[in-house]
This record gives sequence, C-alpha cells and structure tokens, in this order.
Amino acid sequence: MKKITILGATGSIGRSTIDVIRRNPDLYSLYAATGNKNYSVMASIIREFSPSVVVMTDRTAYEKLKELVQTEHRRTEILFGAENLNTVAASEEYDGLMSAIVGAAGLKPTLSAITQGKTVYLANKESLVMSGHIFIDAARRFKSRIIPVDSEHSAIFQCLPEKEQQRIGRCELKEAGIRNIILTGSGGPFRDRDVSTLDAVTPAEAVSHPNWSMGKKISVDSATMMNKGLEFIEAKWLFNASPDDIRVVVHPESVIHSMVQYVDGSVLAQMGKPDMRTPIARALAYPQRINGGVGELDFFTVGSLTFREPDFVKYPCLKLAIDACATSQAMTTAVNAANEVAVYAFLDNKIKFTDIYKVCAKVASQFACVNAPDLESILEVDTQARARAFSELSVL
Ligand code: NAD
Ligand code: MG
Repeated sequence: MKKITILGATGSIGRSTIDVIRRNPDLYSLYAATGNKNYSVMASIIREFSPSVVVMTDRTAYEKLKELVQTEHRRTEILFGAENLNTVAASEEYDGLMSAIVGAAGLKPTLSAITQGKTVYLANKESLVMSGHIFIDAARRFKSRIIPVDSEHSAIFQCLPEKEQQRIGRCELKEAGIRNIILTGSGGPFRDRDVSTLDAVTPAEAVSHPNWSMGKKISVDSATMMNKGLEFIEAKWLFNASPDDIRVVVHPESVIHSMVQYVDGSVLAQMGKPDMRTPIARALAYPQRINGGVGELDFFTVGSLTFREPDFVKYPCLKLAIDACATSQAMTTAVNAANEVAVYAFLDNKIKFTDIYKVCAKVASQFACVNAPDLESILEVDTQARARAFSELSVL
C-alpha cells in the first residue's frame, strides 16, 4: 500500500488523481491533501478518504474545514498556510507526492519533497520551468525520483528505453540512440481561427479547450500555446535535452501524446484518449500498470491523425518560450512569471488575449542576460518579473 500526498488536490489534476486512488483502494491511500480556496471539494475528500493531514492556504476555507472536522468528529488534522505545504511535503509519513498546484506556488513544496528523497509525480510544470537545474540537481543529490505527469512528458517517458526512465533529469539521449523528441500539441481552441481576430477572443472562448478538460490557467496557456513553450522547457530539463533535440508538431486530434524518434528511423509514439488519468496511473503505478478508469481507444471513431507545423505568427508565445529556453534560466523564469500575471489579467477581463504575448515579451527581454545561479536569485527574478509585468499591464 503506497501512501500518497496530493498538492493541489482540489484542482483538475488533483481530482483526477483522487479518482485513480479511488479505483485502486488496495494499492493506494491518501496521506495528505492540500488546497487553496475550494472548501467543498476538500470537505468531500476528507469524508471519503480521511487523510491524516489537510492544508488550506486560504483562511476562510481553513476555518470552515476546522469547524467541519469538529462537528463531524473526524480525525483529519487541518493546517493553514503556505509554510505548512512545505512541512507536509517534507513529512516522512508518505511514499509519493503528486505535485499539482498551479503556478509558481508549487515550487517550494515540491522542492521540500525532493530534498526528502521522495518520489515526485510532476504535473506542476511551472516549478521546473522556473528553477531548471536547481530542481534537477536537488533530485540527483537527494535521490528523489521524478516521474512526469504532463501527458506529453509521460508519453516521451514511456517511449524511452528503461535505462533512461531510471534517470530522469540525467538521460543520455545520444547514448540511447535518440535523434529527437517530438512534442505534440492540439493547437488549442483557436487553431482554425484567423489570426487577425485573436484580439477579440473572450476568456470563456479561450478556456474551452477542444480536447482536454483542465484548470483555467493551463487552458489559456493552451490557447496561446505558451503551454507548449513551457513544455519545451520542461522537456529540456526532464530529458537532459538540448533545444535542438526537441521538435513541436501540432496534432489537432490529441491522440498521439508525444513521440521519440530514434537514429535508425523508428518513431515510437504513445497514444490514448485525452484523459489525464492515464499519465497519472502510469506515474503512480510505475513500473506496473493499473486501471485508472480510462476506456479503450476506438481507432474507427478517431478515423485519421493529422499533423501541422506550428505557426509562430499565430502562437508567438511558443516562439518566445523556445527562445528563452535557448537563452538563459533567468529568461525562462521571467517568461513564466510574466505569463502568470498576464493570464490572470486576461481572465479578469483587464487585457486582451493578444496582450498576453506583449507583456511576456517585454518582460522576458529584460532578463535575457541576468545570471540566476541559485534559488534565491531565481526567486528574486520571479518577483521582479511579476512587478514589471504588472507595470506593463498598466501601460497597455
Ligand atoms: P487547477 O487550477 O484546476 O488546480 C490548481 C490547484 O492548485 C487547486 O487545488 C488549487 O487549490 C491549488 N492552488 C492554486 N493556487 C494556490 C496557491 N497559491 N497555493 C496553494 N495551492 C494553490 O489546475 P490544474 O489544471 O489541475 O493544473 C495543476 C498543474 O498541473 C498546473 O501546473 C498545470 O500546468 C499542470 N497540468 C495540468 C493538466 C490538466 O489537464 N489539468 C495537464 C498537464 C499539466
Ligand atoms: Mg501537457
């Protein structure tokens, strides 16, 4: 029986992870769950799984849950605040941690788990994008195993030889006979929309993804394809790849989740329905396989698979993230920070969809030559980039 901790248990990935655990009660139990504001989802998690610990980072949600465990005589300990995310992640009481907080808020607790040598199932790509080599060096030093959950990286992981699966962060792609890694992406809801109309799109249109059901931030990132850009950077770190080793292909059907091309001409692809319970089940059970509730892929319904080259005029955020990846750690940290600020401003109807790129590009260029060798300097870049993004918002 593996004891699991879920950071971001109330979100889209968190709830899918809960469902995989629910379907495999002989294999997994929930040790701890964390959330921000969503009191009612966390209340139902407590009632169903009785985790030992719950952390909420929103005070009202925390107080309501405290009251609930008292009146219902439940034995779950309820804690408050971001510091307690780190404490729970560093606990000796569990085996594997699902890192599924959205954005930079996931960095410190994920690093806490890594420095305890835990197995980390990584969905929170922003933490790796913003800290890069520090994250990977810590995993190596503390013998923490990282298993990708992002569907593309799970697909690549599954197409790698076992030796490379065993050394995520330190793969030797050339030694393994790999020519390149091919990241696929659906192109989001605007892939067939005229680029000249993109400044008029609404938040509701941007979050309605054609194939995947996800949280709001990543849905907007999919519409700009910044998500694929962040995944490009994520792939660089997870698979020890150089930017030249990574290709991006638009694949509207989202059946192939990514591929690995070998020097002998073989291309291995991982396919399946677009359902995050597949990569979550792959991560939790590795090296075994479990049923996480995803049904059979019906090829006759799928019909055909198509591929397009990414259009950098339509998706300038993708190009920006790829350029940042080849430039410096500080620039990738800045792109990630500016993007978070800009995406939430867009969701709040404060800026246009096309302004997301403008804010990110303006801020990122200011950090291209900054040196950020350690965690403190990375957090400083993150803070400064957010401040500059907020000032860019005010002059748009
Ligand atoms: P979501 O918005 O649905 O859930 C986010 C979770 O983080 C919630 O539990 C929320 O309470 C918590 N949270 C938010 N802000 C917080 C803060 N400041 N402090 C502590 N907790 C906070 O997001 P999601 O779609 O589940 O995505 C989670 C992560 O997984 C993201 O990094 C995303 O890029 C990645 N991811 C998601 C998908 C997907 O299909 N949803 C796929 C691949 C990768
Ligand atoms: Mg993905």
